[in-house]
Amino acid sequence: MLFPEDFLHYVWKFRLFDRADLQTKDAEELEILSAGQHNSDSGPDFSNARIRIGDTVWAGNVEVHLSSSDWLKHGHTTDNAYNNVILHVVYRDDEPLILSNGRHVPTLELQNRIPDDLYNRYHNLIFGNQTIIPCEASIGSVDSLTLHNWLTRVLVERLEKRTAAVISALNKNRGDWEETFYQFLAANFGFKTNALPFELLAKSLPQAILAKHKNNSMQIEALIFGQAGFLKDDVVDEYPRKLKKEYEFLQKKYQLTPIENHLWKFMRLRPQNFPTIRLAQFAALVVNSNHLFSKLLEIRDVKGLRDLFTDIKVNHYWENHYRFDAVSAPSSKNLGAASIDVLLLNTLALFLFSYGKHNQQQHYINRSLQLLEYLPGENNKIVEDFANLGVKIKTAFESQALLELKNCYCNYKKCLHCGVGNKILKLA
Ligand code: SF4
Repeated sequence: MLFPEDFLHYVWKFRLFDRADLQTKDAEELEILSAGQHNSDSGPDFSNARIRIGDTVWAGNVEVHLSSSDWLKHGHTTDNAYNNVILHVVYRDDEPLILSNGRHVPTLELQNRIPDDLYNRYHNLIFGNQTIIPCEASIGSVDSLTLHNWLTRVLVERLEKRTAAVISALNKNRGDWEETFYQFLAANFGFKTNALPFELLAKSLPQAILAKHKNNSMQIEALIFGQAGFLKDDVVDEYPRKLKKEYEFLQKKYQLTPIENHLWKFMRLRPQNFPTIRLAQFAALVVNSNHLFSKLLEIRDVKGLRDLFTDIKVNHYWENHYRFDAVSAPSSKNLGAASIDVLLLNTLALFLFSYGKHNQQQHYINRSLQLLEYLPGENNKIVEDFANLGVKIKTAFESQALLELKNCYCNYKKCLHCGVGNKILKLA
């Protein structure tokens, strides 16, 4: 049998070996009362294990190696952290283990105790032919409860990682949730193509300044288009000329420096998604909703959250323009349903989770998960690939979980750490 050490960890952790008549290499009777907790940091592999050897029950650490001689090779002999190891679990015992203080460490050898079918399933999973993910031949037959539980776990992992970014920004904003929310919302208004300039815009134009002009939509639009760098050049139409005049006054008042206009990308975007239209929508949202983050916390139903975005109306100038000074056929420029769903998913659900986590208020976390369960699943290559393997999803909760699963587990073959992998390996 050929395998890396983490497979042996797995076998020990779940006691997936033949446990009949267990003995140490010194022929003492051995019983595993608890395999211990797997330790992913430095130090012995398992802590708080409980083992009976002969008539004595031992509690302490367990170290796992492919060969007993690895103890020396891994430098444990001189490391005090390994002094209270109560059992050395090895696949092959090729040399007795005596610590520098003269203590003899009991050894359990697992060679000939690992079932062939477990090893074969593991080998097929990790080293078999694959085109999409390692378990592609088996995932379709994993029961829905196992799958759902595991997807829930990875979704929470994803949200916790993204929460770390929110909290880092929150700290930079001195604990100001409104400002932090405004910055993330702006970045998400740029969707994939214009996320960066939107983020830079929000950082260059504090929400607190916009709040001072909440009753004057022209000034809000002037601040947003001006800071975005769209009012530097001469403009012809009356609306942008008014914006330019307002902006020049407000720029001096607040000593603002606009971002570089060339950062905005129009190429390969449908006119409906041009950054000018997104900026107009963002401005309309700011005009419409003061203290948006506080509103988010108060609104209990998904319809109410959607209404925050569906109710916004961009300045009528944009009804027949996609850019300044260029007339186009009239069309609605309000946010579409799909765009609203992306904003609800990427910003509102994330902030409900982050706020709940940061303040240890579970009901906000629950609302975040409910929102994700309500939103439709995303369409992308990963979701499509899983569907072809028999894992069909309906909600954003599931599609976000699949993204995390694929990118953080499947791509690294972390099948031994995956709920789906566990199920496949343990299938009798
Ligand atoms: S990590 Fe899990 S889902 Fe991904 S390939 Fe491995 S067993 Fe399958």
